[in-house]
Amino acid sequence: MADKLIQIRSHFAVVQDHSRQFADFTFVYPVISRRARGLSIGINLNPDKVCNFDCVYCEVDRSVPGKVSRVDLNQMGDELKAMIHFVRDGGLAKEPKFNELPSFITRNVKDIAFSGDGEPTLIHNFAECVQIVARVKSVENLEKTKIVLVTDSAGLDKADVKHGLQIMDAHNGEVWGKLDAGTETYFKQVNRTSVRFERILKNLTATARARPIVIQSVFLKIRGAVMPSVELHAYCERLNEILREGGRVKEVHAYTVARPTPEPFAAKLSTEELGTLTETIRRRTGLPVFAFD
Ligand code: SF4
Repeated sequence: MADKLIQIRSHFAVVQDHSRQFADFTFVYPVISRRARGLSIGINLNPDKVCNFDCVYCEVDRSVPGKVSRVDLNQMGDELKAMIHFVRDGGLAKEPKFNELPSFITRNVKDIAFSGDGEPTLIHNFAECVQIVARVKSVENLEKTKIVLVTDSAGLDKADVKHGLQIMDAHNGEVWGKLDAGTETYFKQVNRTSVRFERILKNLTATARARPIVIQSVFLKIRGAVMPSVELHAYCERLNEILREGGRVKEVHAYTVARPTPEPFAAKLSTEELGTLTETIRRRTGLPVFAFD
C-alpha cells in the first residue's frame, strides 16, 4: 500500500499542468489532482472568469476575456458525458499530458469538481448544474465518483446553492470550502474581497453542521513573512469554533502555491515551512491535516 502511495505521489509530480482548457471542450477539463488523489474532471461554471474574491495567489488571467460568457447547460452535460467516455475508452491515457501515467489513474474518475475560472456559486442556477452532473454520474454508473464543490464559501448561504448542496449530498457530494485566514484583517489582505469574514465563517459553520466538509487553506509568504503565529492561532481558533458549534470537518487541506504568483510580494512556502504550519494546525485542532506543497 505504502509503495502504491509513493508511486501515485511521483505520478502526480509528472502532471503539473492544471489548465482549464482541453481540446475543444468549453466547460469540462481533466486534471490529475493530488487533493482528489487521482483524476478529477473539472467543470468550469465561470467561463466569464467572474469571482467575488481577488486572492493574491489567483492564477486566473483576467486580462484575457473568457471564451464564452455563460454556461450552456446542455453543452456542459454533453461534454461531461463525452469526457467520461474518452477516459473510459483510454483516449485520455494517450494524450501527451497523461501518457506517462498508469491506467489505474487515467481511467478512474475520482471526482467531478465544480472548480473553474471563478467562484462556482455565483451562477444563478447552481442547483440545476448539480442536477445535470448527478444525472450523468448515475447514467454512467459512477456511484463511487464524488461531486466536489470547490468554493470560497461566500455563496453557501444562497437558497439555490443550499438546494444544490442537498442534491450533492444524495450523490456522494463533498464541499471543499476555502479558509485562508484567522482574522478579518488577514482575510482582506490575502483574499481581497468586500465579503465580510464573518459571513464566510457563518457559511462554513452552517454547511459543516449539515454534512462533513473539507477545509482548503492556502498558506504563503506575504512580503517575505510566513503567516504570523498570532494569525495562525486565530485560524486554528476559527476551526475550533466551527467544531464547537456542531460543524463536522472531515479534513483540512493545507497547501501552498505551486507556481510563482502574479503578485510578486506573495511567494511559495518551503516544504519545511508548510510542514511546521500543518503540525501546529493538527496539534491545536485535532483534525486530520494534509499538506500539499
Ligand atoms: S477564489 Fe479562486 S478564482 Fe476567485 S480569486 Fe480566489 S483563487 Fe481566484
